[in-house]
Amino acid sequence: MRPLRPALLALSLVLAVAGCANVQHHQPPLTTLTENSGGVMPAEQKRVHFDHAELHIAVDPAQQHIDATATLSFTAHEPTDALVLDLDRNLPISAIDVDGKPLAPSAWSNPEGRLRIQLPHALSAGEHVSTTVHYGGQPHVAKKAPWDGGFVWSHTKDGQPWVGSAVEGEGCDLFWPCIDQPEGKPDLVDLYVTVPKPLVAPGNGVLIGISDEGDKRTYHWRAKHPTTYAISINVGPYKELTGEYHSRYGNVIPLQYWYLPGEDEQARKLFAEFPRILAFNEAMIGPYPFGDEKMGVVETPYLGMEHQTINAYGNGYKKDGNGFDWLLQHEFAHEWFGNQITNADWDDMWLHEAFATYMQPLYSGSINGDMGYYAWMQKMRLSLHDRFPIVSGKSQTEAQVYDDDHGPGLDIYDKGALMLHALRGLIGDRDFFESLRVLVYGRPDPKPGNFAPHYASSQDFIRIVNQVTGRDVSWFFNVYLYQAQLPALDEQRVGHALTLRWRVPRDLPFPMPVEVQVDGTVHTLPMTHGEGSLEVPADALVVIDPHSKLLRDLPQVTEYQQWQKAQAKP
Ligand SMILES: [Zn+2]
Repeated sequence: MRPLRPALLALSLVLAVAGCANVQHHQPPLTTLTENSGGVMPAEQKRVHFDHAELHIAVDPAQQHIDATATLSFTAHEPTDALVLDLDRNLPISAIDVDGKPLAPSAWSNPEGRLRIQLPHALSAGEHVSTTVHYGGQPHVAKKAPWDGGFVWSHTKDGQPWVGSAVEGEGCDLFWPCIDQPEGKPDLVDLYVTVPKPLVAPGNGVLIGISDEGDKRTYHWRAKHPTTYAISINVGPYKELTGEYHSRYGNVIPLQYWYLPGEDEQARKLFAEFPRILAFNEAMIGPYPFGDEKMGVVETPYLGMEHQTINAYGNGYKKDGNGFDWLLQHEFAHEWFGNQITNADWDDMWLHEAFATYMQPLYSGSINGDMGYYAWMQKMRLSLHDRFPIVSGKSQTEAQVYDDDHGPGLDIYDKGALMLHALRGLIGDRDFFESLRVLVYGRPDPKPGNFAPHYASSQDFIRIVNQVTGRDVSWFFNVYLYQAQLPALDEQRVGHALTLRWRVPRDLPFPMPVEVQVDGTVHTLPMTHGEGSLEVPADALVVIDPHSKLLRDLPQVTEYQQWQKAQAKP
């Protein structure tokens, strides 16, 4: 998702405050149900498989209004007499049909944003049903997208409409009737976006066709297995750059970038990064999961979001000295981590963010060498919170995970990425990247056509790592994923003996090997039972963990963070 860098977050909040005076209409508050995405899935939603969503959304930028029809098809897993969907009640429904026949208004209700449709006939397992929901209104407006969700009604410098949606936190139900759960992906989405001419509406997947009616134009997009929050609306006076990428896997991937007029030179430079990033990710992870659709990017009036095959890019072509656009690279990594493998529950959100975040130091290393990699890791190391475990072990909403005061918050990004670095040090590159491939594709030998998007949990990844390594390294995850505090390494040097001891929350087993460099020679202490010792000459220069393989509590970092906090106080 949301690419969170603390400095950018602060900047964005400042901009959001400055922009408040421009809010054009007062919007009703969201219900708790609509505000939240995920959590425990209602039983009725578990009873059906979501086959197809055909969404017709007419966007009126002048009125900040949408007029929409959604035809949704399901197959029952289990008998059911009702369909339960999520839709913001601030988008009033005018009519609902079931299998083409109008439904009496008494047969459906949407009091809290959970739309209950009583079916005229109960479904048996295996039976299909389709429902059409006619609705519309002013969709919820985001105040500071992508950190809160909704529509962003913006304008280009010359005053033309520039519109985007970003709904990760609150979910798909902010603008279409859906199953607002990570596991609520439809198999197929046909998205028809109607806009005033000559505006352009880039979308998810493949462009099937464009049709004109009067002063309106409709773009028809088709996407397979889109992540629910990755379906997006984009409208603007876009120009387009196109190209082709010849993959190492033999397929040819269309490249498309929609950008605002007047930015040709910057746009061309960013577009030139597409094949480099693709080549790197395909080499490190495996085939681009949506090669038969496109690598698509659209310039958005907010920072960014991993909208499937139409990544949101709003980083303003900033440079940071690393030789690549980190925002583009981060969002694009989500095509693998987020869209190809999707968390089974928001509690497993680190599977999206830790991996997507880890791709930036890896990529920087491929351009800038070791300094690029380690400088990035060190910057992240200074930002950890360690107040709540990355994974709680129970079903969570997106907001619970992102709540810095009650959940892991940003630790799912940076701490997760640092944990992956430590895991790589523990199990080695071969097993690390094979584990990653099995997580992403469900198999170690992915090729275009032999895999499809799927769901995975934290426990799935632990199982995969144990399988690939042929060892049980659950102890590693029991500490880093399920405990808030980092393990600390106590050092004791008495005479010629150096003793190291892991201090771990709840005294959990933690046989994490430690390298010790003594006057230039590196020794590895296996730390069986969390402890190890070494003979060292009294005046020897000793460096613990000389190659920075470990993730551990460091007093200098804690002191720095406390100092920083004190500086920030007025
Ligand atoms: Zn992200």
